[in-house]
Amino acid sequence: MNDKLSLSEWLNAAAKQETSFVEFCIADQTERLRISRDELLARMLSMIVVMREAIQTGLTGRPSRGGLVGGDALKMERYYGERSETSLVGTTMRRAITFALAVGEANASMGRIVAAPTAGASGVLPGVLFALAEQRGLNDQQLAEGLLVAGAIGMVIASRATLSGAAGGCQAECGSAAAMAAGAAVSLAGGTPAQIGNAAAIALKNLLGLVCDPVAGLVEVPCVKRNAGAAAQALAAAEMALAGIRSVIPVDEVIDAMASVGGAMHCSLRETAQGGLAATPTGLAWTNKLFK
Ligand code: SF4
Repeated sequence: MNDKLSLSEWLNAAAKQETSFVEFCIADQTERLRISRDELLARMLSMIVVMREAIQTGLTGRPSRGGLVGGDALKMERYYGERSETSLVGTTMRRAITFALAVGEANASMGRIVAAPTAGASGVLPGVLFALAEQRGLNDQQLAEGLLVAGAIGMVIASRATLSGAAGGCQAECGSAAAMAAGAAVSLAGGTPAQIGNAAAIALKNLLGLVCDPVAGLVEVPCVKRNAGAAAQALAAAEMALAGIRSVIPVDEVIDAMASVGGAMHCSLRETAQGGLAATPTGLAWTNKLFK
């Protein structure tokens, strides 16, 4: 299908032009949208502002509508503040997990978020971006550029597969978000276009087959913690790619495989709340409690 976008083609074109992938994305997007570079980056910046506010909202610890989640980002924040020496992961990973939880909780409590790539998976990108901002002293302009790279990866996934949990399971939401965040992380760390492709491929591969099974049909359990897990996967994939590790399966083929796996997934595992964790005794008890 020639109308499918190809991330590999874009990455190769950037390498051939001897330009960074973010500069390639800026040139491509300004042409497609017929807007100036400043306007494009201003649009991205406005989303960075909302992401930051969503983290702040989540860190207030307010409960979700269904009451299944809320306060876990705050727990992470306090845990590390009190016992940083016993943390099992480094500061960057811990902050990514905290921020991803925060945005997931903001979303579950009807707070304002950026649905990138979806509302359910909205914590992954801010988790990774703002953790890197703290680690590397990045400003909002740089984060906006990272978001552009993430957006390019998301566009390709939407074109070749899906970003919808109802169509492709959680691999399409949290998996895609992890791929987008991994690519953005590599870009922000100064990696090459090829490394961006490898990071996206590795992140998506590691979440391939992940089902969508929201308890009681609410975007609360397992969604919020899956955002934290996907943010951690994104950082792990980015780190591997920056170290020179390559994905044996090229990124476009990984995306195609995700589409194929999503198509083969039983409908009970695609946002219908009929299978997986939603169908466990505890999951069903919550459904009964909330709706019957
Ligand atoms: S489990 Fe389903 S609803 Fe929840 S984040 Fe994943 S895809 Fe979205």
